[in-house]
Amino acid sequence: MDKDKIYKSALSVSEGVGQPPSVNPNLRKVKRINLSSKEFVKGILDGDRVILSRAITLIESNLPEHTLQAQQIIEKCLPYTGKSIRIGITGVPGVGKSSFIESVGNYLTEHGHKLCVLAIDPSSEKSKGSILGDKTRMETLAVNPDAFIRPSPAAGSLGGVARKTRESILLCEAAGFDVIFVETVGVGQSELAVHSMVDFFLLLMLAGAGDELQGIKRGIMEMADLIAITKSDGENISKANQACGEFRSALHLFPLSESKWIPKVLACSARNKTGIQEIWDNIIEYRNYTAANGFYIQNRRQQARYWMIETINEQLKANFYNNELVQEKIRELENKVLNDKLNPFIAAQKIIEFYYKPGKQ
Ligand code: GDP
Repeated sequence: MDKDKIYKSALSVSEGVGQPPSVNPNLRKVKRINLSSKEFVKGILDGDRVILSRAITLIESNLPEHTLQAQQIIEKCLPYTGKSIRIGITGVPGVGKSSFIESVGNYLTEHGHKLCVLAIDPSSEKSKGSILGDKTRMETLAVNPDAFIRPSPAAGSLGGVARKTRESILLCEAAGFDVIFVETVGVGQSELAVHSMVDFFLLLMLAGAGDELQGIKRGIMEMADLIAITKSDGENISKANQACGEFRSALHLFPLSESKWIPKVLACSARNKTGIQEIWDNIIEYRNYTAANGFYIQNRRQQARYWMIETINEQLKANFYNNELVQEKIRELENKVLNDKLNPFIAAQKIIEFYYKPGKQ
């Protein structure tokens, strides 16, 4: 049969090409060299982002040897921390957080700042870091040499994830970042944790979606030092201005916070880059105001104390639940509780007593 005929037939099978290797065979395997704590600290203080990233990975790890080295690194970096302004940013999914952060972030780096964006994402255990994990978010900021974006640690309790984020803030400060954003999804769980590690808390809200304050809990509004109404562009501008008025009235009902700062409500558009500078100016005004009345320092001290206690709580709990004898005891008494043979409170008491004096029972 002639060749032409074969190719025209639908029954022909083309020769095809071989399956290429899935790994580039020319790529040399790069072995990760373990760094000493001293080398980590030097790299961080030199602003080496790769080393900073690796140090944060150590903080996030649950391996005891990593935790130990992370603590050594943090301790050595501590004298170089505290000089940034730490800003918490929250709002429901879709409010425009990443677009806003990208706009403000690029504005800040254009004005000589170095920005670090960290995230706390309570859903990340399931989604493996949904807030910042997806690469399409913050496209220009991601390649901005003066910005450093780090997704949320992917697993662990909220308390654990929050502590890791707080420790990461310290390393980012030591690496020379002077503005730190901590982003969280406004669904109610993680805001409190973020509030306890930042100087300024910014709440993003949509105009016209007024329905029950968009699922934002009243407590979160009370924590805000500034409310920004997003997407104030095109036909949305008048709605955004109206929303500003409504939120201002709502804020009047809240008692004055400990900082004595009166939160503003401002409209902005990440798309048109309007309101961005005004928001940043307001943050600086807050810093100057609270530095003058002493709240800025007092708040940081309170936060340091809070994290000390939180860490004790975390470690006590981990020590308790990781104890194999305790686990066995829990299993034993749990059955009695489930079969109505033992009151749950008495069972709890017995387990705790057993933890403190295992030989006594
Ligand atoms: P996030 O889920 O809170 O991080 O929100 P995104 O930043 O991903 O934005 C959600 C949607 O709102 C996207 O479709 C954006 O294009 C849109 N959006 C964000 N900022 C603006 C803005 O300033 N103006 C307008 N018109 N749309 C915006």
